[in-house]
Amino acid sequence: MASITLTDVVKKYGDGYPAVNGVSLDIKDGEFVILVGPSGCGKSTLLRMIVGLEDITSGELRIGDAVVNDKAPRDRHLAMVFQNYALYPHLTVFENIAFPLRLQKGKYTEEQIKDNVEFAADTLELREHLDRKPANLSGGQRQRVAMGRAIVRDAQAFLFDEPLSNLDAKLRGQMRTEIARMQRRLGTTTVYVTHDQTEAMTLGDRVAVLRKGELQQVASPRALYEQP
Ligand code: ADP
Ligand code: ADP
Repeated sequence: MASITLTDVVKKYGDGYPAVNGVSLDIKDGEFVILVGPSGCGKSTLLRMIVGLEDITSGELRIGDAVVNDKAPRDRHLAMVFQNYALYPHLTVFENIAFPLRLQKGKYTEEQIKDNVEFAADTLELREHLDRKPANLSGGQRQRVAMGRAIVRDAQAFLFDEPLSNLDAKLRGQMRTEIARMQRRLGTTTVYVTHDQTEAMTLGDRVAVLRKGELQQVASPRALYEQP
């Protein structure tokens, strides 16, 4: 895993007001940072810049010691889990999780693919579902498959964009537990966007509050939510 360091990062779409306006944030190796803020404050833009799906207008982004501003997404070795995860309906759970490895043709042997998929499946308690198709899974199991696809790549860090917002309350609770457990097992560096205070309280080492593209506050969940 690796640290993620943002220094004065700016994103301008066209010539409007910057969507992200000078954000500096030091995310330590293994740290779980929650990103909160009102709709339109720049959360998704920030995640997309980190993962490399969006260019950085100015400022510097480091993963570990390397400046990655100009690196392609595939060279950043990050894993992103989106709100609307899409699984391949015709593929089994095993093949859905293996998919990112198969895309990198020739890089992994069948043996390595099997090992990696089984490790991800064990971490997410999907071992007995590997032969099933997504249609035969619960919502929470599907979301875990989406996470399996993210963790199977030996990522340097995870980025989550409201991964649980489409699940009902019971499943959200289960998934929170699951993510916390995965974090303990893998010691991953994580940036996690959510509106849910319970998720922030249970998962976050620190909470970063974004407002109009600027970091307003970075604090422990306790300090943030228990202040007057
Ligand atoms: P959040 O994820 O916090 O809701 P976003 O990062 O999606 O915020 O958006 C931040 C700002 O950037 C908003 O004002 C939004 O309208 C604008 N924005 C986001 N994506 C684009 C885009 N592709 N083109 C132009 N403006 C965008
Ligand atoms: P390839 O994996 O062959 O490069 P893609 O076009 O699917 O093919 O993806 C390009 C790169 O974008 C990937 O290698 C990967 O690093 C990155 N990428 C795609 N989807 C994601 C995702 N969900 N999370 C993180 N990175 C992604």
